[in-house]
Amino acid sequence: MSFDADAKMQFLFALRSHGVTDQSVLQAMEKIDRGAFVKGYFNERAYEDMPLPIPCGQTISQPSVVGLMTQALRLTGREKVLEVGTGSGYQAAVLSQLARRVYTVDRHRRLVADARKVFEALDLSNITAFTADGSFGLPDQAPFERILVTAAAEDPPGPLLAQLRIGGIMVLPVGQSDTVQHLIRVTRTEQGYEYDELRPVRFVPLVEGLAKDS
Ligand code: SAH
Repeated sequence: MSFDADAKMQFLFALRSHGVTDQSVLQAMEKIDRGAFVKGYFNERAYEDMPLPIPCGQTISQPSVVGLMTQALRLTGREKVLEVGTGSGYQAAVLSQLARRVYTVDRHRRLVADARKVFEALDLSNITAFTADGSFGLPDQAPFERILVTAAAEDPPGPLLAQLRIGGIMVLPVGQSDTVQHLIRVTRTEQGYEYDELRPVRFVPLVEGLAKDS
């Protein structure tokens, strides 16, 4: 399937009807072809508003959730952003349109290698992808103006809170189990951290350490 005018219209309609209203986020998602990040059998369904399987037993998030998380980051175009959980690379590609520089990490070497190929093919030169345990952040590149975590932790990981610049925003799913999770926005102020609960979500878990295949 191709991201033609009809596919785009339906895709954008689903995003808007789920509350993605930020014009710059909609434009970025219209530009980045999700089909480039979904290989094989499920490529047919790349423009539907649903999560889909990717290699290593992981998932590419539902587009409307990608849109809502991106919108919650309130990007201005000047930020250095860390994404934890590269997966297919789709979310990082959307962020690359709205931020100055994107660092993305995944614990699966194979996912990082595949995502790098797509970034290169699409000429998204402001993304750097690493294989790493993202719960420790990226100390060498810190601090970040924005952090987005796309796997669910029980609590916001301490190193990520520490690597958020004052005035910065982190968006992440938190929850005790894989059935009850909430999307949280953390804002770092001079005094500490402020937390907003955004909406219920369902993500794969944040897992410690590099994957065995890495
Ligand atoms: N953002 C992705 C979807 C992420 S799925 C996309 O746009 O396609 C969640 C990803 O988090 C998985 O690829 C999983 O391998 C990764 N992950 C889980 N725990 C991690 C950790 N501790 N460090 C880095 N990546 C992790």
